[in-house]
Amino acid sequence: MSIKLPDSVPLHRGLIREFHDIRVSDVSSSFVSCQKEIYDTLMFFLESGIDYEDLCPLVKSNCDTYIQLLEQEEESQGFQTKFKTIKENYKEMTESCEVFDLDTMDRYAERDITAPQLSKLLKEANDGYIPKIKISITMVDRILRAFPYIWKDPKCILPDSLLGDGFNNDANEDEIEMAGGSIELTCPITTLIYEEPMISKKCQHTFDKSGLTEYLKNSDTNRYMEKDCAKDGCSKKISMDDFSPDTIMSLRCKIYQIKRNENNNNMKLEALDVL
Ligand SMILES: [Zn+2]
Repeated sequence: MSIKLPDSVPLHRGLIREFHDIRVSDVSSSFVSCQKEIYDTLMFFLESGIDYEDLCPLVKSNCDTYIQLLEQEEESQGFQTKFKTIKENYKEMTESCEVFDLDTMDRYAERDITAPQLSKLLKEANDGYIPKIKISITMVDRILRAFPYIWKDPKCILPDSLLGDGFNNDANEDEIEMAGGSIELTCPITTLIYEEPMISKKCQHTFDKSGLTEYLKNSDTNRYMEKDCAKDGCSKKISMDDFSPDTIMSLRCKIYQIKRNENNNNMKLEALDVL
């Protein structure tokens, strides 16, 4: 005598805990370590003294790798979210099923009543659309995303999408320092190229640390004061506490110097050729 078995049965109450433990492996931590490695590599390039032209292919391959990594991470986050929904759906469906016991076994076997199959739900989900979840933009991420643009043109205006949360671009849009459609790399106070750029969280204006300390220091008391922003047309009051390092501006200046050195060297070579 052969017994007909059901295709699927509802989740047994005793297995709820095991069911909750089923998870998609989280790759976030390996994403963060890869991200850091790419960041360190790019920063190493900037300090390496290697010529701009020679660095170009190395920078490009690292930036491309980062974009791919980012896409994979966003997809993986998307799948995790989707997987959670599938589990919730499955649990809801299985809970509304009739209890599987000796009385209902035949009806389950004859498919008179059915229970959901997790593997089937997963397969359907996998064939379907998987949303990409935007990962929250950290400073390292912002630098890595901005890097290829700045590498090409240190004075470029970055696309809005790169600025991310916490950077109020709308309010700032009219004020973006433009000189022929580009960002100034010189401090409005010192009028020199930035060495230690500091950005105000109040108005997003950047000054060099040396200029800023001089500007805000009261020479009589030797203490820092609150003063009008040193940027023309800005009405905000600024104090030392409002400022933090402007890492994007630092990056712009570093790359600008590397490109400038390269140009100087080329000019020297051309001059030698003439001789
Ligand atoms: Zn300002």
